[in-house]
Amino acid sequence: MEISLKGVRFIFDDVPEPRLDAKCTSLLAGFDEEFRKKITAFPQIRWAEIITPPNGGPLFIVGRFALPDECPQLSGPYIFLNKTLEPFFNYPTIIDTALLHELSHFASDRHDAHFMESFLRAADALAWCPLIGKPVHNFTIVSRQ
Ligand SMILES: [Zn+2]
Repeated sequence: MEISLKGVRFIFDDVPEPRLDAKCTSLLAGFDEEFRKKITAFPQIRWAEIITPPNGGPLFIVGRFALPDECPQLSGPYIFLNKTLEPFFNYPTIIDTALLHELSHFASDRHDAHFMESFLRAADALAWCPLIGKPVHNFTIVSRQ
């Protein structure tokens, strides 16, 4: 399937990827109840080839969160991961961090305070494994004023 999201064209096979679904399920466990209420449907996660990068944006897109109101071809929430990352599936600091980032877009479509709070709280609840690759305990987030 080929779609366009704000001028960025993606090609992907719309076939479930059980390995990514399992990662997503384990990462969702890090998000709190309030966050999970915002998830109306489990996201479809697909490896995607980005064939037209964004104008003026980075040439390399790691991931992209998309909702059907952005693209009528999508039947629900989707997370696209750059297909060039597929060989790194077993490197959690790459794939898990990208998925954690895209899941945090359920909190906000922008990289604002709501997004960051969701991202950091989930990473903390998961003992920072997605970012560090192993658990980091006794860590405290201190807000900067
Ligand atoms: Zn983002």
